[in-house]
Amino acid sequence: MTQTDSIAYDVVVIGAGPVGENVADRTRAAGLTTAIVESELVGGECSYWACMPSKALLRPVIARADARRLPGLSGAVREPLDTAAVLGRRDEFTNHWKDDGQVQWVEGIGADLYRGQGRLAGPRTVEVAAPDGTRRVLAARHAVAVCTGSGAALPNLPGLAEVRPWTSREATAAESAPGRLIVVGGGVVAVEMATAWQALGSRVTLLVRGDDGLLARMEPFAGELVADALTAAGVDIRTGTSVESVTRENGTVVAVTDAGDRVEADEILFATGRVPRTCDIGLETVGLEPGSWLSVDDSLRVEGHDWLYAVGDVNHRALLTHQGKYQARIAGAAIAARASGDPDLESGRWGAHAATADHDAVPQVVFTDPEAASVGLSLAEAERAGHRVRAVDVDLATVAGASLYGDGYRGRARMVVDLEDEIVRGVTFVGPGVGELIHSATVAVAGQVPIGRLWHAVPSYPTISEVWLRLLEAYRDN
Ligand SMILES: Cc1cc2nc3c(=O)[nH]c(=O)nc-3n(C[C@H](O)[C@H](O)[C@H](O)COP(=O)(O)OP(=O)(O)OC[C@H]3O[C@@H](n4cnc5c(N)ncnc54)[C@H](O)[C@@H]3O)c2cc1C
Repeated sequence: MTQTDSIAYDVVVIGAGPVGENVADRTRAAGLTTAIVESELVGGECSYWACMPSKALLRPVIARADARRLPGLSGAVREPLDTAAVLGRRDEFTNHWKDDGQVQWVEGIGADLYRGQGRLAGPRTVEVAAPDGTRRVLAARHAVAVCTGSGAALPNLPGLAEVRPWTSREATAAESAPGRLIVVGGGVVAVEMATAWQALGSRVTLLVRGDDGLLARMEPFAGELVADALTAAGVDIRTGTSVESVTRENGTVVAVTDAGDRVEADEILFATGRVPRTCDIGLETVGLEPGSWLSVDDSLRVEGHDWLYAVGDVNHRALLTHQGKYQARIAGAAIAARASGDPDLESGRWGAHAATADHDAVPQVVFTDPEAASVGLSLAEAERAGHRVRAVDVDLATVAGASLYGDGYRGRARMVVDLEDEIVRGVTFVGPGVGELIHSATVAVAGQVPIGRLWHAVPSYPTISEVWLRLLEAYRDN
């Protein structure tokens, strides 16, 4: 390695995923000099192996399912999907795994991009090991923001590496549909990828460890409705099933379950959680534990380090792009305010510089058929948090706007109301077309809109949004 002198910036960001990009955008907008370090592709997991390719795979699946429910249109969409065309469109969404467009964007905001592995080398210092072997030292006057994201967690099964299992990366980037696919897991990545690959031509077996069913973090009816639809689509769902061993025999994957069943497939996807990408970023040089999630305060600052921020997946608050970008806007503003000596921040009065929505107003859409969307607390979470709450449910099929979506519309909505404050603590919608509806609930939850005022937010007729009236009526009448 060759050594160059250290280069000083106001801010150094490690990781140019969606979150790192947004931190840099905000610090640059505040006039702070900013370096951003990236070891793979500028744009991160979201652009190349997560949100964008997965949604590009799922959009035709959902559009076809919607069309199949409509008399007059259903006959025109009986044929299987054109898998090659769907994969081709996915490739365009990932820009064929090239990041030139996003590099241009970084240049456009006036940040300096360094390619290579970034590692902390003591307080306010980042070393970058470039692919060509050169090494640079970046000194941060005001802040270092760790935005290194998360990677797929694999279970500790002997010989797993030889099986070459799929993680979310292979599942979103595959060039063809395997004939048979085992998906291990029951969370968002598992159900989305089971939906996509079953429709794209694979025979999917979904192995779910616990007995809580699918999407266990949402209201129970979300997982039930999604499971019914997956089963109807041909997915073999086995709950209460753990994988005890997995081998590859003459090209075939063989998973043996705790019940002793052998399940064979061409590929196996482990959608079994995430780990922080912090093993090799020099945490030990500043007294932190390598491999750990980085715990932060509401201004995204790592406890005990006034110059160190951890933003996005890596802080484990909410592993979602939109929530990470929200944190990035706040962290960027907080860094800039502290750099200019804002007395409010120094005294701990953070106001707009606090990521409070992380605690009780996180929205999420699961892009399955039916879609599942939620914000805030589920009934169980609200009760566990000690709120005195009541849940009201509505069958979405009774809403005129939903019935227009097509024959046999199935869906459900739940509103969790805080009985002390008469505000909405959480909302869940499950049904075709509900993804675009969730922001109305996010405004109600994050804005703590009193139930009495919600009556004056009049939904248009005939849209699915009229579910709000049905929910308010159900709350009033029960
Ligand atoms: C299959 C799948 C689908 C998803 N779908 C959605 C969705 O629809 N909507 C949604 O909101 N969220 C979705 N997510 C979650 C979303 O992808 C993440 O929340 C988001 O990517 C987090 O952004 P980030 O910038 O924190 O991390 P990342 O996107 O992981 O970016 C981190 C960046 O840091 C770089 N890096 C890591 N270590 C170093 C280092 N030492 N030096 C330099 N660079 C480094 C990485 O190469 C990477 O580019 C999905 C996730 C998966 C797995």
